[in-house]
Amino acid sequence: MADPAECTIKVMCRFRPLNSSEVTRGDKYIPKFQGEDSVVIGGKPYVFDRVFQSNTSQEQVYTACAQQIVKDVLGGYNGTIFAYGQTSSGKTHTMEVSYFEIYLDKIRDLLDVSKTNLSVHEDKNRVPYVKGCTERFVSSPEEVMDTIDEGKSNRHVAVTNMNEHSSRSHSIFLINVKQENTQTEQKLSGKLYLVDLAGSEKVSKTGAEGAVLDEAKNINKSLSSLGNVISALAYVPYRDSKMTRILQDSLGVNCRTTIVICCSPSSYNEAESKSTLMFGQRAK
Ligand code: ADP
Ligand code: MG
Repeated sequence: MADPAECTIKVMCRFRPLNSSEVTRGDKYIPKFQGEDSVVIGGKPYVFDRVFQSNTSQEQVYTACAQQIVKDVLGGYNGTIFAYGQTSSGKTHTMEVSYFEIYLDKIRDLLDVSKTNLSVHEDKNRVPYVKGCTERFVSSPEEVMDTIDEGKSNRHVAVTNMNEHSSRSHSIFLINVKQENTQTEQKLSGKLYLVDLAGSEKVSKTGAEGAVLDEAKNINKSLSSLGNVISALAYVPYRDSKMTRILQDSLGVNCRTTIVICCSPSSYNEAESKSTLMFGQRAK
C-alpha cells in the first residue's frame, strides 16, 4: 500500500489572460490575487501551493512546477505532472508537449497508429504498464522533442477536428529515465509522466446526447477516479479507470506529483472555474 509520507503532491493554479472572444463579449476579469498562493473568486479564497497570475511566463511556470520533479526523476523518483481544467483553460499550453492517448477508456499508441486498443498489464513486480506500446530510445533533448512532434502529427492525422478531439481525450507522455554509473555500477531509474487531461467541463453545459454523452460520462469517471486516488492515497481505488491503473506506481510510493489547475479568468466561465478550483482543493 502507498505510504503517503513518501509521496508529495503539489497543487498549483494558473489563470490565463482573457482571450479575444471573452473580451469581445465584454466578460469581466474576475480573479483577485492575494500573495503568491491565494486567489479569490466570488468572495471565496482558494489557497494552493502556488497561484500564477495571467501574466506569468512559461519559464516561471516551468521553474515552479516542473524543475524539481525533473531533478527528482533523475534521482530515481517517479514523477507526474497533470494539467486539469475546462477546454481552452490552458492545459496544453502549460504542458508544452503533447505518446499515447486514452479515449473512451481505449488506449491508442501515438507513435504507431496501427495500435488502437492497447491493454494494461503488470510486470513481475506488479508495476502496471501499457503492453505493446512503442518505446523509443532517446539520448538527447532533441530526440525527445522529435518524438513528441511525431506523436502530435499522428494525433492530427487520425482526427478531423483536433481541438474537439483533444478536449475529449487524455494524452500521456512517458519519459523513462535509466542511468548507470559506470564506476560503481549503481543503477537508477525513474519515470516522468506528463498528463494533459480531457476538458473537465460538465455535460449539461453542452447539452450532450447519445455517443457524446457516453464519452462525457467516461471522461467524468476517469477524472473523478483520479480525484479519488489523489485525495485518498491510503486506500487507493486504482482499478477504477485505465488511466489511474497506468499511473499507479507514479501516484503511490516514491512519487512526486504536481497538478496544475488551469482556469479562464472570465466571468462567463465562473462556474467552471469554481468547480476546477474545488477539484484542486480536494487534491490537497
Ligand atoms: P486546453 O488544452 O485547456 O483546452 P489550450 O492550452 O489549448 O487549452 O489553450 C487555449 C488557447 O489559449 C490557446 O490558443 C493557447 O495558446 C491560449 N493560452 C492558454 N493559456 C495561455 C496563457 N497562459 N497565456 C497566453 N495564451 C494562453
Ligand atoms: Mg488541450
